[in-house]
Order: sequence, then C-alpha cells, then structure tokens
Amino acid sequence: MKVGFIYVDFLKGGGGKFYHGIAYLSSVLKQSGHQTELFHIKENKDAVNLGSWLQRCKPSLLAFTATTNIYPYIKELAVSVKKDRDIPLIIGGIHATLVPEQVCAERLFDFVCVGEGEGPLAELCDALEKNQDVSSIRNIWVKTPAGYTKNSMRPLQEDLDTLPFPDREFMDYAHSYDLLRMRRGVFMASRGCSFDCSFCCNHALKKLYKDCPESYVRFRSVDNVIAEIKEVVKRYPGIETIIFHDDCLLLKKKWFKQLLEIYAKDIALPFSMNARVELIDRETLASAKSAGLRVLSVGIEHGSENIRKKLLNRNMSNKQIIDAFETAHGLGIKTISYNIVGFPRERFSDMLETIKLNARVKTETIQISIFYPYPGTKLYDIVKEKGLIGAESLDSYFEGTILKFSPFKKRQIKFILDNFESLKITYQFLLKFPAIIHAPIFYGSLFSMWTLIFLRLENLVIALARPLARVFKSNVKKRRDRQFVNA
Ligand code: SF4
Repeated sequence: MKVGFIYVDFLKGGGGKFYHGIAYLSSVLKQSGHQTELFHIKENKDAVNLGSWLQRCKPSLLAFTATTNIYPYIKELAVSVKKDRDIPLIIGGIHATLVPEQVCAERLFDFVCVGEGEGPLAELCDALEKNQDVSSIRNIWVKTPAGYTKNSMRPLQEDLDTLPFPDREFMDYAHSYDLLRMRRGVFMASRGCSFDCSFCCNHALKKLYKDCPESYVRFRSVDNVIAEIKEVVKRYPGIETIIFHDDCLLLKKKWFKQLLEIYAKDIALPFSMNARVELIDRETLASAKSAGLRVLSVGIEHGSENIRKKLLNRNMSNKQIIDAFETAHGLGIKTISYNIVGFPRERFSDMLETIKLNARVKTETIQISIFYPYPGTKLYDIVKEKGLIGAESLDSYFEGTILKFSPFKKRQIKFILDNFESLKITYQFLLKFPAIIHAPIFYGSLFSMWTLIFLRLENLVIALARPLARVFKSNVKKRRDRQFVNA
C-alpha cells in the first residue's frame, strides 16, 4: 500500500532538514513492500499545495509526526484533510508518545503510535493492505466508536543493525538544508541517553519502556555506522562534514574508540558531535581530534550549580564544565554550548550566571533557548503542580515562554535572550582582569540592567546600540558559518 507522510519543520527555523525518525519509517515500509511519499512543509506557504499533493499521491494511509510545539499546526492540517477526504490518519512522534491520552481526546486520528514506530507501522500497513484486523497491534492505539483501544507496548528494537539505513531519497536529501546549505551528512549511531535531565524527554521515555530498561540506550555496530556513512558520502559527493546527531556518543567509550579507528581510516572527514561534560576526557578527545573531530556540542543548560542540581537533575559542577571546555579548546576543537533561560524559580542574577559561565568556558558558539515544559517530563509536572502553565503551546522555544511569569520577568527573559551573546563577550573581556576588578563591575552591571528593565528602558538602550550590535552580529554569524564550513 502507499503511505503518505507529512512532515513540518519550518517552525524550528530553517526548514528542509533531514529527519531520521520518518526516514527510518520509510525505509522499513519499503522493505516490507509498501510505497512511501513525503509532503515536506519547509515553509508555511507550502501547506497550500497539500490538497493537490493528496490528489496526485493518493495515499491509503496518511502519517503525521509531531513535537509538542508543532502539534497545534499538525492538528489544523489533519482537520483540513479530514474535511474533504475519507483517508485514515495516523500520528506518531514524541508528542503522541508522551501524551497519547491528550491526542486521543481530540478524536482526530484513526491511529496513534506510541513509542518507536518502525515495527508497529509496518505491521499496521501489512494488516490494512490485507484487510485484516488492526485492533490489537502493539504500540498502536486504535480509534473505536467508544474511544480508543490502547494496545500494550512491544519491547524496543534491540538490535539497531537489523534496521535498513534511513531513506534519504524519500526526504530528497540532495535538496535538503543539510546538503545544499551546510554540505553535511547527518547520522545517528545510537538511540537514547542514560542521563535523566528533568526537562528532557529521555527519562519520560524510559518510564514508558520500564519493562526493558537495559535496552533503552542502544548503539549500532561500528561497521554498520561506517557502512552507512560510506554509502551516503558516495551517493552525495557534496558532503564535506559529518554530523552525529546522537544525544551523546561518549556513553560507550570502548565503542567510540573503535568507531574512531575505522572512521579515521575509511571516512576521514571532519565531524562534529554532542557530548556530556562528565564523559569528556583528554585522551578520548585527543583520539577524536586525530580522527577528525572539529566541533563539540555540550549542554551547559544553566550557569548555577544549585539550579542545575536541584531543578534540572544535572549533577556536574561548574569546574567540570570549565575543564571539559578547556580540554576541547586545548586540543583545537571548537565548541558549541546549549543553554536555557526562563526556568521557574530562576532570578535575573541566575540568568546572568549562565552568561558568565559561557564567558568562562569561552565557547565559540552559543545556542540559547527558552525553557519549554514538555508534557511527560519531571519539570513539566513541577510547573503544572505549581499552576505555572499559561498558554497551551508555543510555536518555538526561541520566542517566548508558556509559563505564567510576571510581565517584568518575561521582559528579563527576552532581554537575556536578545543580548546573551554580547553580554557573554563583555564578561569574557572582564574576566581577563582580577576578581577585585570584575566582581564589582559584574554586580554593578547586574544592578543597572535590572534597573533598565524595571524602567522599561532596555529597548531604548538596545535601539541606541543597534548599529553596533548589527556589526557585531554579522561578525558572529560570519564566524559561525566559517566554523561549520571548516568543521
Ligand atoms: S544529557 Fe542531554 S540527552 Fe541526556 S537526558 Fe540530559 S538533556 Fe537529555
């Protein structure tokens, strides 16, 4: 049978990216003898062509995937499809997985896929094609007149090597943002993360798979990963760098060492990856550098040890973070830091701690987002219990908060978000001087910034500084682009 997929990614900024989730689904379906086709909404205006695409593609099942941010948009699309066509709809992805009850309450989708979807979707398509009973497929919740049949979970796909490589043609990789704009090949060598940060979906997913905790973190074999990279690099000669999107490749150091040995011999392209601070050590990074590691992305998330430990369940010290970045920089590896502002109980001075820590670690590139409580996570439960959830959802975690903060706190968050990079550079400059000089300047500037925001003058100051900021921003952008290109 033919399965149409709808994938929306423009809300995250820069649509047109490759997505492993549905690319794996497509390859598994094709392996089972089905056909797949994608309607990729890279810009809002693309959605107007959905009707004509459906007319031409004529799928027998229409599959949606959604994160929490994108879900309201996906709902609108599903409603518009159902209005004109009698076609079964299925939804999967992280939102449907973490809050299937909420999704079912809307009765829009005929099937809701909970958890990893390769096995369940293939089984569903086989059954639909053969007109067989679909009511008891594990991981699939099936709409009935009385509600939904909530089928149990199947174990996780333990051996990832048994999956075919993700289907890049289906996602038109040759014209993707990754290849055309960034000249990069993106790969996933593993699934899952063994840490339990309170804002991240990993601990919520572990709860879902509580019957098979030992297999939650899975790595493909090194040979399997290398074979895919070789094949993709050969097929898309424009690839100049390799990006590993895995949560943390250092979770299995022995495996990582083997990967580096073969990668250096057989691939030898510059690469980048994510890593958790506690797992970074000089010897491993030095081998990674020799194999081609150019950019290391590390989650700082917050500059206050107290907030990290008590609220985010991240037990690393500031010293560990500083040492990890120093190790990377000492070996000539560039770094990207991930950061979040807008947590409950976070004061303005705490937000500045995050900027200060970024200045201390001298990271070349910063990603800063606003805290978004994802349903199913511990931090979501905390803010929900405190009655802090305001808006139902927001398109992007780079634009605003859904928490019921005072307008003053919202302006503080916005101020930090807009000025994170310039404040980081300023602190980096100040830190060259002894504490006796930079400490009073820090606390003086904290007081002045707080006052500016209080008096609603921050926009005036930003407007006056705008010409300078523009020059600064373009320099930072150029530097960042160069960094990725050279990576
Ligand atoms: S280390 Fe990263 S991927 Fe792992 S649980 Fe924490 S935030 Fe999630």
